[in-house]
Amino acid sequence: MEIIVAKNAGFCFGVKRAIEKTQDILCEKKGKVFSIGSLIHNELVTDDLKKKGLIEIDDISTISDIKNETVIIRTHGVEKEIYDILKKNNNEIIDLTCPFVKKIHDIVDEYSTKNYKIIVIGDKRHPEVRGIVSHGHEVSVVSSEDDIKKLTFDRKDKVLVVSQTTESVDKVEKLVDILKVFYYNIEVVNTICSTTIERQEEVGTLAKVLDVVIIIGSENSSNTMKLYNIASKHCNKTYIVSNRACVKSIDLDDNMKVGICAGASTPQYLIEEIIEDVRNEL
Ligand code: SF4
Repeated sequence: MEIIVAKNAGFCFGVKRAIEKTQDILCEKKGKVFSIGSLIHNELVTDDLKKKGLIEIDDISTISDIKNETVIIRTHGVEKEIYDILKKNNNEIIDLTCPFVKKIHDIVDEYSTKNYKIIVIGDKRHPEVRGIVSHGHEVSVVSSEDDIKKLTFDRKDKVLVVSQTTESVDKVEKLVDILKVFYYNIEVVNTICSTTIERQEEVGTLAKVLDVVIIIGSENSSNTMKLYNIASKHCNKTYIVSNRACVKSIDLDDNMKVGICAGASTPQYLIEEIIEDVRNEL
């Protein structure tokens, strides 16, 4: 039996920065502290922050009611309109949007002023993508070849392509190749973050030589699900595990090579606990 733990597992720098800063604010501030949506996609972490006093705003229609308060913007960022309402209502905004996401906002702002149509490769329901879309004038989101066929931009339009920071590298390359056939004046800026690229490469390489791959993280975390999809292509015994109880349902034996990877919003203590549980199962 052998357990191999991925080098790039657990909190990325954007998530680490957001959690540490939020914990500091919750200690320092006397009044209420709000966050727009869950700070990160991991319930263990967000439940802990809620116990320490963080109030999550899930219903965007109530944003206008927040006035003169402290409001945290999470790593995914928010739509421009939400930011403007919070500012107008004299809130103290603690903007923890990851710099990789902010960079995409700036690129979309810049190209939109030069009359480019914007194509975002990603999940249109994801908060990060909704934030990116809000920075352009004419923006479409695509996630498949079918979506590309439905685009209404003219073939001669100036088009900029960016992607969600946690998109799969292979998928973006494939869709960009198709877009290049459709559009003559196309510019592509690679906006997948370096953390995502490193993790996807590592999990792909590891999964080829493992009998079982365990991805620790939540199913609502985009980067975690991408790791799961990549590993599944190479190893048919790939599991997603969000808590310790899930380990019990995995069939393990002494002759197996087991790999452990984790999404960017998975806390280190959970990774260590699950490694220990896997050891005890074998
Ligand atoms: S996954 Fe990438 S973009 Fe998202 S918070 Fe982490 S470093 Fe930033």
